[in-house]
Amino acid sequence: MTTRNLVTGGAGFLGSHLIDRLMHAGEEVICLDNYFTGRKDNIRHWLGHPNFELIRHDVTDPIRLEVDRIWHLACPASPVHYQFNPIKTAKTSFLGTYNMLGLARRVGARLLLASTSEVYGDPEVHPQPESYRGCVNTIGIRSCYDEGKRIAETLCFDYQRMHNTEIRVMRIFNTYGPRMLPDDGRVVSNFIVQALQGQPLTLYGDGSQTRSFCYVDDLIEGMIRLMNGANTGPINIGNPGEFTIRQLAELVRDRINPSLELTTRPLPQDDPLQRQPVIDLARQELGWEPKVTLEQGLEPTIAYFRERLANAAC
Ligand code: NAD
Ligand code: UDP
Repeated sequence: MTTRNLVTGGAGFLGSHLIDRLMHAGEEVICLDNYFTGRKDNIRHWLGHPNFELIRHDVTDPIRLEVDRIWHLACPASPVHYQFNPIKTAKTSFLGTYNMLGLARRVGARLLLASTSEVYGDPEVHPQPESYRGCVNTIGIRSCYDEGKRIAETLCFDYQRMHNTEIRVMRIFNTYGPRMLPDDGRVVSNFIVQALQGQPLTLYGDGSQTRSFCYVDDLIEGMIRLMNGANTGPINIGNPGEFTIRQLAELVRDRINPSLELTTRPLPQDDPLQRQPVIDLARQELGWEPKVTLEQGLEPTIAYFRERLANAAC
């Protein structure tokens, strides 16, 4: 019998790449999305396929479906989008995860939660292992997302303890690749779009803060291994290659138009100073590590945005 998968947030960046992998493996997929930041275009190529169904639904409302696996990704991921309506973001994280865990419990499905490195907040421990409990501001402008994901993790483990629900918790570090939105607001897409449009690249602060960027194909491989494996997590999935934001700007600029300027903008409140995953657990438990360097992953990402912007201009 084929596995029946529910992918919440399936029309988004990561969800649509996951759906491609599941569909290519011959599995059944229900994609559920409210299209807040997702696009039908990301999954249009599967419409009409007998193994694929699309449901417009908001995870803050309960839903009844018969599925074996729930990949729970629904939640805006970019600060620009999750701060647009922070109360809705907190509702999506709490109620959305609660509803999906309720569904998992009723039908005996395994649920994977797309959690985040943001549970570590602005970390005092560097790099961050899963055992680090984080340094999160409970009342800042990032809290709706950071605290939302923390309570979502808590709910998963309480469902496991109380109801034996099968859970997998994945802490995703900054991931980039084709199908990010040009106006997504995250740093990789911002820099590429700015450079392709011949505009200066906007460094927030002095650009000395760091992030570790994982290419989407590596990330999805880690997600699938976690779902298929025996370890509940939380497990960090990310690329340990750490870059300052200024280094990223230079890498992008040099590939697109070396004559462009870098300009500065104020650093947003609570912007973490540094971030790098410890991935020993993923290596041991999942036999996973990233294969694509930032230099390699930027190429298909730039090509994707070049084509999208060219089509938008037609
Ligand atoms: P994305 O914004 O592209 O995708 C999120 C999807 O969820 C969108 O299709 C959106 O329309 C949908 N959605 C949002 N709220 C919803 C709701 N209430 N009901 C139904 N659908 C809803 O973001 P992404 O980068 O693909 O992120 C996917 C998941 O991975 C998110 O949970 C995010 O927190 C997590 N994550 C991503 C990253 C990253 O770097 N991309 C890092 C850490 C965690
Ligand atoms: N950033 C930047 N310029 C931009 C967008 C983001 O310098 O145009 C910075 C941002 O302040 C942060 C880092 O890049 O320090 C990563 O931001 P992003 O929104 O991609 O992810 P997150 O902060 O959630 O890791």
